[in-house]
Amino acid sequence: MNKPTNIALPPSREEAMHAVKTLLDWAGDDHTRPGLQDTPQRVVDAYREWFSGYLESPEEYLTRTFDDVDGYQDVVLVKDIPFTSFCEHHLAPIIGTAHVAYLPSDRVVGLSKLARLVRTFARRLQVQERMTAQIASTLQDVLNPEGVAVLIKAEHHCMSTRGVHVHGTETITTEMTGAFRDDPDTRNRFFELLKH
Ligand SMILES: [Zn+2]
Repeated sequence: MNKPTNIALPPSREEAMHAVKTLLDWAGDDHTRPGLQDTPQRVVDAYREWFSGYLESPEEYLTRTFDDVDGYQDVVLVKDIPFTSFCEHHLAPIIGTAHVAYLPSDRVVGLSKLARLVRTFARRLQVQERMTAQIASTLQDVLNPEGVAVLIKAEHHCMSTRGVHVHGTETITTEMTGAFRDDPDTRNRFFELLKH
């Protein structure tokens, strides 16, 4: 999902560094000046980290679950998971927080795995709507809980640093499955818990 199909033949590190040099020159600078000497390799290293989500498979780490929870049946919510992503239209940062909840059926997943799920999808080129849907559908499909709720708030730097230059606006997206979508009480419980 959301992975390029030509990943079998990615460009080499040298080709990626060459592309950075081209962009530096195109911006109006001179990539051969001393201050920019190590910039291409730093950018390539940063890309490896920013886009490491392409190398991760959430299906793998979400399948390690626990069923020994003494009958716990209420909503599990991990709030305020910070993330940095990049918009696929401008490669500009999307900086925000995600709230991920699910209503367990018989199994639960390690809480850190929910933060990791957010990070995996954040570390790919994104639009916020799709990232929200991917987190919800992956958790729903792999863990098979009674329902999943995801709410994401983020600032899009392609809006604040270019184009309309609007600062401080937040975009909010939500995705609900199962009980959160169908049962108003469960959905309200999610929004109540978010207020605390
Ligand atoms: Zn953008």
